[in-house]
Amino acid sequence: MNDIVNILVPRVCFGCMAPLGRGERLLCTFCRNQIPLTEYNFIDENPIDRIFYGIVPIEKANSLLFFTPNGIVKNIIHHLKYKNQQEIGDFLGDWFGYIINENNPTFRIDYVIPVPLHKKKLKKRGYNQVTTFGQKLAQHLDATFKDNLLVKTANTKTQTKKNRFYRSQNKQALYKVLDLKILCNKNVLLVDDVITTGATLQACSIALKQVEGVKIYIATMAVVP
Ligand SMILES: [Zn+2]
Repeated sequence: MNDIVNILVPRVCFGCMAPLGRGERLLCTFCRNQIPLTEYNFIDENPIDRIFYGIVPIEKANSLLFFTPNGIVKNIIHHLKYKNQQEIGDFLGDWFGYIINENNPTFRIDYVIPVPLHKKKLKKRGYNQVTTFGQKLAQHLDATFKDNLLVKTANTKTQTKKNRFYRSQNKQALYKVLDLKILCNKNVLLVDDVITTGATLQACSIALKQVEGVKIYIATMAVVP
C-alpha cells in the first residue's frame, strides 16, 4: 500500500527534496547525517545563554540545530512553518527530548509553554508551528504542555530596524501571562522554532518573570549561529 501511495504522491526529503527511500521518513539518510546539531546542553554555558544576559534572568537556553540561510534546517523549518508539515515538529521534539534525557537525566520541567501566535495569526495559519515540538518535548520530560497560559496581546510584527534595547522594550508588553498562580515556583520550558535576535524569547521571558519563583528554561529547534 505504501508503495502505491508513493507512486501517486512521491514522498520527498524536506531537507533536499530528493525522493525518500524505503524506511526513510521526512529526511533522507544523507540529510540526517549532514544536519548541523549544536551539541549544546542544559549544563554548560553556550552562546544562546548570552543573548539573555543583562536583559532577563533565565536558567538555561539550548537549541537542537544550527540555522543557516541555505540548507537542510532552513528547508525543514520552512515546511513546518508554511506548508503545514507538523510532523516535522514531532520529529524534532522526539530527537531533542531524547538528547536532553541522555545528557541530563535530572533535568526537571513542570510546564512546556510555546511562544504564542496572536489569535489572528493563528487563525490565518491554522496552527502554531511550535505545538507538536513542544508536545513531544513535554512527553519526553514528563511535563505538561500548556499553550493557554502565555498569550500574545497585539498582532505586531517583529521590529528589525530599531536597536536591540528598543526592540525588547517594545516587545515585552506584547506578551501576557493569563494565570500567574499555576506557574508559581514552577520550572517552565519556553519553546520556539528559531532564535535569531532573541527579542521574542526575551519578551516572553520578561512576561513570565511576573510569576513569583518561576524558573525559565528555553529550548528551540534551531539557532542562527
Ligand atoms: Zn535529503
